[in-house]
Amino acid sequence: MSVRIVLMGPPGAGKGTQAVRLASRFAVPTISTGDIFRANVKNSTTLGKQVVECIDKGLLVPDQLTNAVVADRLAQPDAASGFVLDGYPRNPDQVAALDQFLADRDVELDVVIEIVVEAEEVTQRMLRRAQVEGRTDDTAETIAERLAVYTAQTEPLAEIYVNRGILAQVDGLAEIDEVTERLVAAVDPFVGG
Ligand code: ADP
Repeated sequence: MSVRIVLMGPPGAGKGTQAVRLASRFAVPTISTGDIFRANVKNSTTLGKQVVECIDKGLLVPDQLTNAVVADRLAQPDAASGFVLDGYPRNPDQVAALDQFLADRDVELDVVIEIVVEAEEVTQRMLRRAQVEGRTDDTAETIAERLAVYTAQTEPLAEIYVNRGILAQVDGLAEIDEVTERLVAAVDPFVGG
């Protein structure tokens, strides 16, 4: 069975944690643009040097770079039978790039899940996480910018997927296990489960 899932939601909603869990449930890889960028920053690659400033400011990495990174990753053999995309697409240009990539291969997304958590809660979560994980973009100022970018650029994408009949919303305000169960329940109807 192939399953192609996009996970959306504000920063701090738990996308990363849940993407890994969903992917293991459906036996497909997780593809997280944030993780890919952070690994490149850590290893000081050419890409890492190009993206570090955007990440630290809470701004989107330019589409040209992001779309190329994702296309490259999606073209790897393990993603042929499906994936959970975490953190992509984040604006209309990225939606178009993903559509084109999938259309070229004659496949489609099964479902886009939006994890819904209010801004105040996600801000608190990220400030707490800052002390544990030390992410350089988990500062009060950058968190505010990331939320603003999400509201302005990414949240409106939900409507595109509503219109295609493939959007599911899940309340992310619960224990991690509970949210995973809600996500699996939300995906099942779209993948014939
Ligand atoms: P969060 O969702 O908590 O902000 P991510 O790990 O998904 O965390 O993203 C961290 C940063 O990486 C973003 O603020 C942005 O700078 C960059 N990034 C991740 N995904 C994308 C994307 N699809 N397009 C542009 N930039 C991205």
